[in-house]
Amino acid sequence: MGTLKLRDLTKKFDKHLAVDRVNLTVADGEFVVLVGPSGCGKSTTLRMIAGLETITDGDLYLNDKRLNDLHSSQRDMAMVFQSYALYPHLTVFENIAFGLRVRKVPKKELKESVLRAAQILQLENLLDRKPGELSGGQKQRVAIGRALVRQPEVFLMDEPLSNLDAKLRNHMRTEIKELQKRLNATMVYVTHDQVEAMTLGDKIVVMKDGKVQQTGTPIELFNRPVNRFVGGFIGSPPMNFAEGELIQQDGNIRFRHQNYVVSLADDAHPLKEYVGKKILIGIRAEDLQLNESSQDVRDEFRFPVINSEILGKESLVYFRFGMYQWTAKLYGQYIYSNDDRISINIPASSVHLFDYESEKRLPDEFQLNEMKESMLN
Ligand code: ATP
Repeated sequence: MGTLKLRDLTKKFDKHLAVDRVNLTVADGEFVVLVGPSGCGKSTTLRMIAGLETITDGDLYLNDKRLNDLHSSQRDMAMVFQSYALYPHLTVFENIAFGLRVRKVPKKELKESVLRAAQILQLENLLDRKPGELSGGQKQRVAIGRALVRQPEVFLMDEPLSNLDAKLRNHMRTEIKELQKRLNATMVYVTHDQVEAMTLGDKIVVMKDGKVQQTGTPIELFNRPVNRFVGGFIGSPPMNFAEGELIQQDGNIRFRHQNYVVSLADDAHPLKEYVGKKILIGIRAEDLQLNESSQDVRDEFRFPVINSEILGKESLVYFRFGMYQWTAKLYGQYIYSNDDRISINIPASSVHLFDYESEKRLPDEFQLNEMKESMLN
């Protein structure tokens, strides 16, 4: 399998900058997912890799060979589309075999390749059927089979599961991941669904407005988002955010939004540089804690509830944090109505700090996680 390199890859449609200097290395056998909202440029990036879209600027390499000017058929890549793109009048066997026939692969070899792919994808009993006689998941497997028999250096997948219902999507997700590991395939996969990205990718590239926001493992992205956008995009429910001011009070550095005040650190912490300035904080719904024991909590920590939803053993509680609607994901079955008040702890060590203007994560020295470690020791 191959190593793919994108160097300042750029695409302009007339004056519209759809992809802006994307840099990425996809290592041999690595599963990389491009994720982002609609229109962020992920499909265009994939199509430039495939050779279906010309490259305006920058370079594309496969195993150090520059591909920019090579036709898609010469790039040794296979692409699977959301629409499956199967030939309706051909059987499953012939659909999988199509590319091999075009390349005039000898009959015996062709048959062996198709049967091997069919076996891997559990399509052996369906080889005589036409696409119209298949379920969505089976059609998608045929499309993957067609890519598989080409034994490409790189697999490219553009939202391959979007047409499937939620249950089948989960199932196919597991299958694709398992297949990719078994074949040690180099894969670039496009999706708008962050859950798909988190569960599939060895590495995730988050894009917005044609630009890469962050590249990292799922855990890196979840634990250390580089800006507000990534913090809000990765994770479900999305991260809660609030803007406010840092104040110094009673030997502590505190975050204040309206009359809510959260202690973040003692006043020896480097964060004191930000005292008097506006700041943006983020906290994940899973990191908020219900303060069940306290009748004596100060008013500012009793938040008005908007609604709650029970998800089996866990509950989502929506409440007001000043002018924001926040969500807490709590273990247990909590039913609240919207005149209730709820007491929630905001653990300082779980708070993410972002610059108010740029919305970028504050440098490490200002983050609070290290303080938690030193407090525990
Ligand atoms: P989606 O998830 O909706 O497919 P995407 O992230 O894959 O979105 P792209 O399809 O790559 O986004 O599009 C990126 C930008 O380029 C969009 O603003 C889109 O309108 C624009 N664009 C895409 N294809 C063309 C084209 N052929 N001509 C002009 N503009 C285009």
